[in-house]
Amino acid sequence: KKTIVVVGGVAGGMSFANRYRRLNIDDEIIVFEKGPFVSFANCGLPYHISGEIKSRQSLLVVKEELLQKRFNLNVRSNSEVISINPEQKKIQYRSNQEIFEQSYDELVISTGAKPIVPTIEGLDRIPFFTLRNIPDLDKIMLQIKNHHPKHVSILGAGFIGLELAENLKMRGIEVALIEKSSDVLPVLDPEVSIHAKNALIQNGIDVYTNNEIVKIDPNTLYLKSGQEVKTDFLIISIGVAPDTTLLKNIGANLGMKGGIIVDHNYQTSIPHIYAVGDAIIVKNQISNQDTLIPLASPANRQGRQLADILSGLNVYNKGSIGTSIVKVFDMSFASTGLTEKQLTKGTYHVIHLLANDHASYYPGATSIHLKVIFDKMSHQILGAQAFGQKGVDKRIDIISTAIKAKLTITDLQELEFTYAPPYSSAKDIVNLAGYVGQNIILGISQSVQWYDVEMLKNEGYLFIDVRSFIEREGFGYIEGSMHIDIDELYLRYQEIPKDKKLVVYCQSGTRSYNAERFLRAKGFEVYNLDGSYSVYDQIS
Ligand code: FAD
Repeated sequence: KKTIVVVGGVAGGMSFANRYRRLNIDDEIIVFEKGPFVSFANCGLPYHISGEIKSRQSLLVVKEELLQKRFNLNVRSNSEVISINPEQKKIQYRSNQEIFEQSYDELVISTGAKPIVPTIEGLDRIPFFTLRNIPDLDKIMLQIKNHHPKHVSILGAGFIGLELAENLKMRGIEVALIEKSSDVLPVLDPEVSIHAKNALIQNGIDVYTNNEIVKIDPNTLYLKSGQEVKTDFLIISIGVAPDTTLLKNIGANLGMKGGIIVDHNYQTSIPHIYAVGDAIIVKNQISNQDTLIPLASPANRQGRQLADILSGLNVYNKGSIGTSIVKVFDMSFASTGLTEKQLTKGTYHVIHLLANDHASYYPGATSIHLKVIFDKMSHQILGAQAFGQKGVDKRIDIISTAIKAKLTITDLQELEFTYAPPYSSAKDIVNLAGYVGQNIILGISQSVQWYDVEMLKNEGYLFIDVRSFIEREGFGYIEGSMHIDIDELYLRYQEIPKDKKLVVYCQSGTRSYNAERFLRAKGFEVYNLDGSYSVYDQIS
């Protein structure tokens, strides 16, 4: 009979413990959790602030008593592991101010990641919070209850920052969101994340990008831009760093941001010590590079896989691709795999598409914007990002599955989806990505991107707007572009100077693709502006 000690009793730790128990009825499993709760729903925390998740109790997903009774887990909450002695295979932990020891046969670390708190002059002059667990949430809720704040500032516009902004606003509190990068959701590409910024602004959030807090006085934040924000308290959400002091102290191999280096069996550099979850460095399955992916799904999977490995099953750590989604009021922003920011220009193709989530003639259809990136040589899908009101999660989940299955862009043409008008379209936007990808690979269409526009203009390319006059006047147009409505192109194409290289655009890229085909047949050198004006307009 073995003794398995787990440090950290939430996503990775509890997934491990439960699975290990199902496979090993007799071993002793002891889970140490320094906080008061195990198995709580970290991901649900922001939604309790607005009352969207009404009951705090519902955030406690599985109760300690149940884990003890049903799974025979020895769960020790309020017990912080403070040191490891790998030679003697013992840990020391603190509980009720006292120090105890516990020996182990195998030690599993799932200590997660902790919020990064920057040094800012005057940070001690304002109430400030971070959000990682239920006690953190309780502190924020108490501050709101006792002080009735009118205005809260959030530093950092990543997933948690955006969720906090929305939920505070929904509670009736004014919110300023301050972000160092030029974009909110800086993990996404800028032409996608700009829509998240717009959604925040449209919903009354004051967004300060390209900015930092340089100094704080009571109730006032001084920004790098020279602006002052009057605020009642501050929440810091600028990212997380692996919580790995325990392993650092025993000289385990650590990598980027102090993340734990593990092998294909989740084993650390120290025998009998394993690690999973936000604390570990994973291989990105697409780029094969080391990365940190602090997300719940990988943490849960890794916990389960480690239980399988320690039970002798043939499973291994394959790495992750990183798939995420965030709700920003009535919009969703989702991403899988790599972004353009992470890739080397010239090695990949990009496709931007705009289509409805379901048949346009069935009531309630809304737009989905989808960006797919694929490798120029292998045609394998490298990543995708999408936003819209409905159906964004489904499309990104399909593409993340395609990436995991190593499908190519043209394989997307072959995928068969459920279809009836209330649900999708006979040619779903994911199929369309396959069609466009095939066109690009075969040279049937040649595209340029929104960020090429200025350069191409300078090189003398002529831009041709093939939308209707009403669209051109209503939405705006690329400066200097010639206007010929697609429906007049057959009659008027001879007005186009023969010696010019052309870029055609419309609103989404579909009509301009038709124009591209026509003009190429008429002997012009012509390119389609991928994503067309709907992409260019927002970001330029
Ligand atoms: P955790 O679940 O954080 O568990 C680690 C536990 O270890 C902690 O409870 C900690 O107290 C304990 N611990 C640390 N050191 C010790 C010690 N020395 N002794 C004893 N115990 C210790 N991910 C998503 O995919 N989607 C989301 O929508 C999402 N939303 C999130 C919202 C918030 C507010 C937060 C904070 C996270 C969110 N995440 C989300 C991330 C997700 O929760 C994590 O990726 C996941 O919980 C990581 O699991 P883990 O086991 O590695 O760490």
